[in-house]
Amino acid sequence: MASIQYLKGVGPARAELFARLGIHTVDDLLFYFPKKYEDRRMNAKKERSDHIEDVTVIFGKVLSVKDLYTSGSLRIFKAVVDAGGRQVEACWFKRHSHRYDVFAALRKDVAPGAKIWLVGRPEDPLFKTRLRAEEYYCAHDLAAQRRHVNRLVPVYGLTEGLTPKVMREAAFRAVIEKAGDTGEFIPGRLMAKRGLIARDLAVKAVHFPENYFELNEARKRFIYEEFFLMALAWAIKRAQTRALNKGFTYEIKKRLLTPFREKLGFEFTASQKKAINEIFADMKARAPMSRLLEGDVGSGKTVVALSALLLAVENGCQGVFMAPTEILAEQHFITFERYLAGLGARFALLTSGVKPKEKKEIIEKLAAGELDIIIGTHAVLEENIRFKNLRLIVIDESHRFGVRQRACLRQKGEKADMLIMTATPIPRTLFLALYGDLDLSCLSEMPPGRKPVKTESVTEEAAFKAVRAETSKRRQAYIVYPVIEESEAKTLKSVKAEFERLKGLFSDRRLAMLHGAMPGREKERVMGEFAGGKIDILVATPVVEVGIDVANATIMVINNAENFGLASLHQLRGRVGRGRWESRCLLVADSATADGAGRIEAMCSTTSGFEISEKDIYLRGAGEVLGVRQHGDMEFKIADLARDGEILRSAIEDREALLAADPALRKPEHAGLRRKLLELYQQKWNIIDLS
Ligand code: ADP
Ligand code: MG
Repeated sequence: MASIQYLKGVGPARAELFARLGIHTVDDLLFYFPKKYEDRRMNAKKERSDHIEDVTVIFGKVLSVKDLYTSGSLRIFKAVVDAGGRQVEACWFKRHSHRYDVFAALRKDVAPGAKIWLVGRPEDPLFKTRLRAEEYYCAHDLAAQRRHVNRLVPVYGLTEGLTPKVMREAAFRAVIEKAGDTGEFIPGRLMAKRGLIARDLAVKAVHFPENYFELNEARKRFIYEEFFLMALAWAIKRAQTRALNKGFTYEIKKRLLTPFREKLGFEFTASQKKAINEIFADMKARAPMSRLLEGDVGSGKTVVALSALLLAVENGCQGVFMAPTEILAEQHFITFERYLAGLGARFALLTSGVKPKEKKEIIEKLAAGELDIIIGTHAVLEENIRFKNLRLIVIDESHRFGVRQRACLRQKGEKADMLIMTATPIPRTLFLALYGDLDLSCLSEMPPGRKPVKTESVTEEAAFKAVRAETSKRRQAYIVYPVIEESEAKTLKSVKAEFERLKGLFSDRRLAMLHGAMPGREKERVMGEFAGGKIDILVATPVVEVGIDVANATIMVINNAENFGLASLHQLRGRVGRGRWESRCLLVADSATADGAGRIEAMCSTTSGFEISEKDIYLRGAGEVLGVRQHGDMEFKIADLARDGEILRSAIEDREALLAADPALRKPEHAGLRRKLLELYQQKWNIIDLS
């Protein structure tokens, strides 16, 4: 592929700057889409949308110029321009140089009498008589005008040393030279059905649209393209998983399951039963299970997972239970000890807190098949651990695991059954799009007798008073701070500093501290003591955020609440309200920003995880919420899962129809699509195998 270096106006030095943006070839540049556009046309009616940026453009004759030195190293060049009878003063600022005259070119081009185009930001937005100049073009430079003024102009993400003008020039060249070579791969039938413009036209128009109509058509085409390819890849992945034969089948023996259920002390809810049935059916099926179990915080996912693990153990297989953090793994270990006591299932915890000697023993036992279940973080599978007969992988709170991790696990676990659990409800289209390879089970109800957690925004004083009242009734409390140690800025309260203060304030209560920097053993001990009721108040960082389950804890105080995201707040709140008592979540916020206030307001007005996650998707975007963006996979160039839901739905619909007619993309009219998918997903993401 043609290196960007050989594009006219680029060269080796600039090529390095382009490389910083991930642009190595001319093709890369063609698909480096503008972030925004500026409407630089003189007399057009400007559209308002979130990808059109406001800018001022004038064309006129230079009347006079002034070249000023300020006292410091700054130089200012001013020009008064007659723009059709209106006088505009434009100014340029530059750092003074001893080596050359920074304004030499300006003085030559912007001389009295010259006709120029000027682009800039007005310093007085109302009258626009003073302009901070950003770009200028001479009236006789017709080529420059075609690209940079009097049209819709692309605005690119840049890097230091690369100016908007150079970038735009390069993109213009690339479009002229190469846009014609971008092959079409969406079947003509779908292009017609969805009214999509051809790929080569779209490439040109996405960079240099002639008008808003063209721009919107180009964007629509690429949004559809991104969704369609992704949706297809997941469907193919799913079909492939389904075609596998795990070469093993389970039998429901009830040797462990029945005593487990009898000892639980509660009945499964209807949706737990349904989920367990779905999971068991998957496990008994020929193909490996890939199932997502979705259920709000506190809906009881753990016992569902335990049922699956016990079915595996009954059948002489091994299972892994993975948590996103060590604390959570430790907590789950304690839970397992409670639920599995006396059943004869052999399980162990493997975290960094485990001593080397013990660890060695665990690893040996796993290899020998003398352990049935291992609990840990995802490091469990990364480490060099061999299992005798690993058949089931459970991943808890998986919104922390990205798509790529999932694909990677699939490779490690080969034909193992996989159950992924999340408390972040995912809207249906998003589910189909992002988790198209998974089946879905939903815990749609809470265990009976749960009282919604009352949430309020209060002062610290009121919060502590409530903590005092609850603990005097022998209930327990969490007090959460955002950071472990105080930082320079001291804007956020820290666990360490506040713990000392709280010991004084609550001298007649038993307090303990919990944060992520503590050694594993220590964390385990503190969690164990809190769960056992030996501690009244747990002062912690958000390490307690996920999964921790202490039914006697009835009050959660979150300090600097304005600093937490909605999902975190909801998870933290989910730590209380797990028993039969009325529980409260108290948010203590300092001066909150509008955003922070919005989140606190959302928390106080709803306890539904589904509503929270919808609001969150609206506030932060789907990628953020679902942990997609931070993992760098599934990054869309142009599509936006939240905004472009309509196009996403059509893409998914078209995928269904297409695969129904041609599941392996064997028809000649799908050859291009097949090639594109191979290139994109196999080489880049390594998730499907179309061979
Ligand atoms: P999450 O879905 O957030 O992981 P957990 O699995 O931690 O929720 O369950 C929360 C609490 O609810 C636990 O204490 C668990 O024992 C309890 N629980 C689970 N299912 C039921 C049920 N059907 N009836 C009563 N309590 C239940
Ligand atoms: Mg949980």
